[in-house]
Amino acid sequence: MISTAFKKELYEAIDQYFEKNGISRYANGQMKAKLAIAGVWWVGSLVLLYSFSTSPSMFVLLYGFHLFSHLFILLNIAHDANHLSIFENERVRKLLRYTFDLCGINSYMWRQLHNQQHHNFINIKGEDDGLVARGLLRYTPHHEHKLIHRFQHFYLFVVYSFFSLDYIFIKDFECFFFPFLNGLKGKKHPRIEYVKLFVFKLAYIGYVLLLPIYFIGVPAGLIIVSFVAWQLVIGLIGATIIQVEHPLRLNEFPLDRDEYDHFIYHVFATTSDHSLNSTVGNWFYGGLHMHVAHHLAPRVCHTHYRELTKLIQPIAEKHGVFYKQNKTIFDAIREHYGHLQNLSLSTK
Ligand SMILES: [Zn+2]
Repeated sequence: MISTAFKKELYEAIDQYFEKNGISRYANGQMKAKLAIAGVWWVGSLVLLYSFSTSPSMFVLLYGFHLFSHLFILLNIAHDANHLSIFENERVRKLLRYTFDLCGINSYMWRQLHNQQHHNFINIKGEDDGLVARGLLRYTPHHEHKLIHRFQHFYLFVVYSFFSLDYIFIKDFECFFFPFLNGLKGKKHPRIEYVKLFVFKLAYIGYVLLLPIYFIGVPAGLIIVSFVAWQLVIGLIGATIIQVEHPLRLNEFPLDRDEYDHFIYHVFATTSDHSLNSTVGNWFYGGLHMHVAHHLAPRVCHTHYRELTKLIQPIAEKHGVFYKQNKTIFDAIREHYGHLQNLSLSTK
């Protein structure tokens, strides 16, 4: 009864926000600006790369500038696009989902891992894709403690730096052919998705590695080393931004979806926001820092989350539900690091 009232009040407040202000749940001005930035950055940096790579050092810098447009697209466009929250038009919204494939990540598999597994099983071992890390990191007290986990807080960020390389070259294939999450085991995928997996991966390798090797006058070895080096930096930043909302000291780690009266409590128990007043965050974190709003309303474009969070906070307080937040991303990183450090001990 209590959970029904809380849920009802939350969703009524969200609906009323859009109705009263006469605004759409989809892209607003800020999101349209982000789409423009993403397009100009991606195309413009390729033009600069092919026009001004007059020396090896210029190539390395311009190549990095281009690859960082991928990080911006992944966080700010592709995540929303795959929740269908940017535009209402069916064709446009489906087309935008391929922004993941443009950056080397399979969009279909992302929806399986993120929309299905992560969103429905936050912080649950064996189901939440965010808690895997190839067994190198012990994210919950329910994970078996292995000897290597004693040192996990020392190598945590090394593992994160391999996030994008792993995703692009191994994880997507592994999830199609040798899935590790319970929800994906034995699951049949449409044949066309296997075709798209290989076609898009080859297209990505083609435009990111092969075209520069053929058309830019710098050694192939330098291009490959630069690619790996930039991906290590991008992986570190991307994985850190993605991981500092759930596996934190502040949050809970239920064994299954039925641990709370209602899934809405599950969201609040397992999720923390951060950097609510950060301009950098509002332009670069893709709304991931206002993560409670994202899990409550994933079909709403992330550029509305700031206003929604202001509505959510007092309603949670009124119903005695703990809304958690860290002041800055550095506080959230400290919480995340501290959690992994605690779990490095087998007794926790
Ligand atoms: Zn999401």
